[in-house]
Amino acid sequence: MIERTAGIPDRWDEEVDLVVVGSGGGAMTGAIVARVHGASVVVLEKTEFVGGTTSISGGGFWIPLNRHMPEVGVEDNREDALAYLRASSGGAGDPENLVALVDNGYKAIECLEDRAGCSFRSWPGSPGGTIDYRPWLPGWRHGGRTLDAGKFPLADLGGSSTTSCRRTRAGRPGWAILPRRTTTSPAVVR
Ligand SMILES: Cc1cc2nc3c(=O)[nH]c(=O)nc-3n(C[C@H](O)[C@H](O)[C@H](O)COP(=O)(O)OP(=O)(O)OC[C@H]3O[C@@H](n4cnc5c(N)ncnc54)[C@H](O)[C@@H]3O)c2cc1C
Repeated sequence: MIERTAGIPDRWDEEVDLVVVGSGGGAMTGAIVARVHGASVVVLEKTEFVGGTTSISGGGFWIPLNRHMPEVGVEDNREDALAYLRASSGGAGDPENLVALVDNGYKAIECLEDRAGCSFRSWPGSPGGTIDYRPWLPGWRHGGRTLDAGKFPLADLGGSSTTSCRRTRAGRPGWAILPRRTTTSPAVVR
């Protein structure tokens, strides 16, 4: 059995309500939500870069019923979203997770926009957007459910954010919008 107190110092350099391990989209979202609800947060990242796989991804995330869908002319409803997810997953995974995504995903978007200073936009089906990947399945939509983050000045994050981001191939600061070599995200503290 592991002795849980072994190696634990008598006092800590910093004490917080929540320690977030990693700095990808999942970790950062958790950190931001905790912060907007009043918790003190520290983000610990093992690499020299902030952002994880999320920072090199396409950046699109699928949130049915999101409030930006009408802006691209697409309506949605719970039954269709669940039907599409169930058909797409083919019975794999936990059915409760599908319901949780449909019932809470759009609320997370609203929280991040209304309380954490984030902004998102729906991708239209065309031109330049994306429809649901499997349009032959029940409940699919011709766009709108996929969101990406709006742009904002990196300088708004403060610190060394404009010079310490992961670079895109074009040499510009890319999707990794948060400074590296920091333990607390500016997005979390603002
Ligand atoms: C090229 C590409 C394009 C993609 N495009 C899309 C897309 O458009 N839409 C989509 O939905 N998905 C896409 N994905 C998948 C998506 O990017 C990942 O599923 C998602 O980013 C995972 O997020 P995460 O927060 O779980 O993990 P990550 O973003 O990988 O973050 C994990 C972080 O934790 C850190 N970490 C790990 N262990 C420790 C530790 N012990 N201590 C401290 N830190 C630690 C890691 O260094 C990393 O920074 C894409 C993936 C790739 C590679």
